[in-house]
Amino acid sequence: MSITFYSGENIPLEMHKVRIVQKLNLPPVEDRVAAIREAGFNTFLLKNEDVYMDMLTDSGVNAMSDRQQASMLEADDSYAGSATFTRLSNKLTELFGTKYFLPTHQGRACENIISQVLVKPGQTVPMNYHFTTSKAHITVNGGTVEEVFKDEALNLNSEDLFKGNMDIEKLTTLIEERGAENIAFVRVESGTNLIGGQPHSVENLKEVRAVCDKYNLKLVYDISLLADNLYFIKQREDAYKEKSIREITRELADQAHILYFSARKLGFARGGGIITNSEEDYLAMREFITLYEGFLTYGGMSVREMEAITVGLDETMDEQYISQGPEFIKFMSDELQKKGVPVVLPAGGLGCHIDASKFLEHVRQTDYPAGALAAAIYIASGARGMERGTMSEQRDENGVETLAHMELVRMAMPRRVFTLSQVKYAVDRIAWLYDNRELIGGMEFVEEPKVLRFFFGKLEAKTDWPEQLAAKFRADFGDSL
Ligand SMILES: *Cc1c(COP(=O)(O)O)cnc(C)c1O
Repeated sequence: MSITFYSGENIPLEMHKVRIVQKLNLPPVEDRVAAIREAGFNTFLLKNEDVYMDMLTDSGVNAMSDRQQASMLEADDSYAGSATFTRLSNKLTELFGTKYFLPTHQGRACENIISQVLVKPGQTVPMNYHFTTSKAHITVNGGTVEEVFKDEALNLNSEDLFKGNMDIEKLTTLIEERGAENIAFVRVESGTNLIGGQPHSVENLKEVRAVCDKYNLKLVYDISLLADNLYFIKQREDAYKEKSIREITRELADQAHILYFSARKLGFARGGGIITNSEEDYLAMREFITLYEGFLTYGGMSVREMEAITVGLDETMDEQYISQGPEFIKFMSDELQKKGVPVVLPAGGLGCHIDASKFLEHVRQTDYPAGALAAAIYIASGARGMERGTMSEQRDENGVETLAHMELVRMAMPRRVFTLSQVKYAVDRIAWLYDNRELIGGMEFVEEPKVLRFFFGKLEAKTDWPEQLAAKFRADFGDSL
């Protein structure tokens, strides 16, 4: 929550206190060089015990509240007809106004089922932007993905408050060109993940729905990152400033035919689900739950997690809870920007995104600047982020690199996890790194998996830049960690 400080300082204030703690370890800089070397300069392969701030992802690592922890003790462990299921199902109906709920083990499981039921080979799915797993499931079922985002969406330094909005004109043109019968459904993603957690507006979703109605198409709404998007709507969309988070949620949900979510993000726990008011869609998808997930009243989730999700969804309606992530991300992005570090603006949800192509102008794109920067940030701070650039692409059939649109390092901000002094520490070390950026060099693969190479691939620094960076760190910080 932002409050006015007598000192004039402009910082977010935590509206929670920490009641369970986990000890962290900050290894000395030389050990950090050794650890990242052993991890093949890939932050996915670091051991968490060597990490001070785990900013790899916001998935499944958000802090639970005391109320969530308490609710887990009441979980009803029955295979069928569990009271836990009824509680979660009722909460979803209360918040989203949907009648039917299909539980799944996580978000991509929803995408698997929705794609199997709705995508026919050759069909296209227009969307504001793709997410890795949503695209993969549509493709596996013979479909293709068409992104109909606004031109502003890829502008890293923009004033646009709703970069996640769909371009209605592009959407209509696409449907006209392909023919509505060749469109499987229209997908909108809240808190658009891969363009930096950028929101869409209520108005835009309503416009998308009007187009869907005109062509008799289904609107599928991915609400995994809804919490951040709700906060941004309340802050930025004039017509909704006076509405409650519950009212906004309901208005959004009313636009969609099918909604789905990863509860690793929405609900501060671990799981997922599909919700809808359409009995026909519900029945078509239901058998896949028992085939892939589990019985209809748990869908692969632990009942304890389901109780936590029920409470977590309720807490998502509390503006003071959902403001913490976006406000901390804005703080981090603003502070970095003040120190000259190139970051994605306006700050979105999910995490702070650093522009590696500007940070490391001297590193060629084929030497993986975003990957090198992620490794360097770990060396400088013990914080690990995620490469979102060319390393996350894959080579074409001739072995030629596919260069990414953007070279970003994402420093994710798990919800309610870090304190402001920890964020200030990360800012401080990244600012130091920026002033010493000339020391950072490129990388090359030594073990390169063909598919999803960023998860398991191992690289090597092209020179001894990691050691030089550590030596400069020692010289500047003395015996400080
Ligand atoms: C994480 C995510 C998913 C997939 O959810 P998982 O629980 O990781 O399978 C789908 N869509 C969006 C927008 C996401 O952020």
